[in-house]
Amino acid sequence: MKKFLCLLMLSGTFALASVGENMQIIEKAGTHGSFKGDAKIFSGEVKVEMMFKANEWRDFSGGLVEFSKGARSAWHTHPKGQTLIVTEGEIITKAEGQKALITKKGDVISCPVGVKHFHGASNTSAGAHIALTSEINGKNVEWLELVSDEEYKNALKEAREQE
Ligand code: MN
Repeated sequence: MKKFLCLLMLSGTFALASVGENMQIIEKAGTHGSFKGDAKIFSGEVKVEMMFKANEWRDFSGGLVEFSKGARSAWHTHPKGQTLIVTEGEIITKAEGQKALITKKGDVISCPVGVKHFHGASNTSAGAHIALTSEINGKNVEWLELVSDEEYKNALKEAREQE
């Protein structure tokens, strides 16, 4: 009995460190903290909140990204693809060789492996999305050059023409 109790105490202590196979885990909002988007990979004001990490049974992480008006990511690719769920405002996205599009709350952007793209807010509205980003060997993104004002302006024009 004593041994059993001891084991119970131990498992309690380690419950958070080693996510139990049969335990459901709740990660309260804000648990993983947030940071301001780095100017090397974002233009304008961007807030990134980590929501959850990949683990032994989940090969993707989740993050809430909030873009202020005119803000956007740099061009980049994902080695295992990415799914974006728009949660607020307007999110513009462009994949190389494809016309840019403006998406709204509830829209889903599915970006396959290796496709060069960017995402951000429009010039008239802030926007936010949840990013579900798959990873391979701990890597989930390859950052490229910043999206120039000219490229952003052209993308907006393209997107507006399709509205
Ligand atoms: Mn992306």
